Amino acid sequence: MIVEATPSLANETNPWLAAAARFDEAADRLSLDEGLQKVLRNSALELTVHIPVLLDDGRIELFTGYRVQHSIARGPAKGGIRYAPDVNLDEVRALAAWMTWKCAVVNIPFGGGKGGIICDPAVLSESELERLTRRYTAGIMDILGPERDVPAPDMNTNEQTMAWIMDTYSMHHRHTTTAVVTGKPLDLGGSRGRPEATGRGCMFVTLEALRRFGLQPANTRVVIQGFGNVGGMAAKLMAAAGFRIVSIIEWDGAVYNAKGLDIAALMKHRHETGSITGFADAEEIDKDEAMYLECDVLIPAARENVITSQNASHLRAKILCEGANGPTTHEADRILADKGIFVIPDILANAGGVTVSYFEWVQDRQGYFWNEKLVNDRLEEIMVNSFGDIVNYAEKHNVNNRIAAYMVALDRVAFAIRKRGLYA
Ligand code: NAD
Repeated sequence: MIVEATPSLANETNPWLAAAARFDEAADRLSLDEGLQKVLRNSALELTVHIPVLLDDGRIELFTGYRVQHSIARGPAKGGIRYAPDVNLDEVRALAAWMTWKCAVVNIPFGGGKGGIICDPAVLSESELERLTRRYTAGIMDILGPERDVPAPDMNTNEQTMAWIMDTYSMHHRHTTTAVVTGKPLDLGGSRGRPEATGRGCMFVTLEALRRFGLQPANTRVVIQGFGNVGGMAAKLMAAAGFRIVSIIEWDGAVYNAKGLDIAALMKHRHETGSITGFADAEEIDKDEAMYLECDVLIPAARENVITSQNASHLRAKILCEGANGPTTHEADRILADKGIFVIPDILANAGGVTVSYFEWVQDRQGYFWNEKLVNDRLEEIMVNSFGDIVNYAEKHNVNNRIAAYMVALDRVAFAIRKRGLYA
């Protein structure tokens, strides 16, 4: 669902303003002192690099890239690198801060970072993308490292991009350093279970929420927006666990089956035709209306700002599990709270990905790789414990789950800063 941006909606959907609004509310409730608020509201380091790249036709093009470290108080900065024409510093800043809070929510020893390059990867050849990636890596090399800043894939970057970054860093340091990035190919130090991790984490926290509602997977109707890495994996794993996935929503349409979709068959259909539409064993419904279906669990797992002040009142789900980053605006939070929808906020719900990235970093540093069961069991333990931490905190302090997640995260990061003291 694309919501047209009116001037007021443009503010509502600005990622920096959205992150700041949640931060301010959580900081106020914690009575965080003014000095720490200043520190945590801003990035620790922002690097802009202008990257000359030799194009295939012999011309030189200049690209702009960013790497932002929001906080390294609890460990190395951690966060993805995205390639897109509309990347901007405000967005990268907001996403870096989000990573700090997400890592703190699941209590892993990382801070938050994010990077991006303003480019249109669709018009660049594979070799141009490789040169762009390597030169960007060289540009930000001084702040990278397994102990400093550990990137990962994000929008339009993938395991090949990570392999190029790892190789460039390793060539400069004269030894192979796999732990400098996560999301690598399995044979280059990647972790088993990483591709499924975010969707699997969504399932674990949803199962915890179901317990609170006295629901069993078999009588739980699930609607998922986005059938990519997060949504597709969540659908596959939840269907296998007995959930009834009644609707899948994609950018070009939505499919519905009240008895539950055959997810494996829908994946095969999408693979063969390029779309979920035209799937035989389902009804086609309007993709906006599908978001408003009466259901037990709605998982927005496509993109940001899909639930806003304009449409939140139409939602009829009991539980909202935010697979995507920032799918709900701050203004929409209030509407969801009034409707009594149980929100599993993004910084908890989709933290399975960064958790298994942490496992990848640990395995690389040990040089000892775990089997998939161990990865999944440890992921489950972290997701279940984190869910308990946040929901219990929300109940105890009478705040919603999102503000509870921010409060727990801010408190953990602030504790680290206070204990370490200020280096002067
Ligand atoms: P992806 O590109 O693999 O999948 C996104 C899917 O959403 C695609 O199938 C796309 O066609 C669909 N989509 C795009 N616009 C849509 C729209 N308007 N309506 C319906 N469907 C639409 O991306 P992903 O890795 O699954 O990431 C999805 C979201 O989850 C993003 O917000 C991302 O930041 C967040 N996230 C991803 C991970 C991860 O490990 N991949 C971890 C944490 C958060």
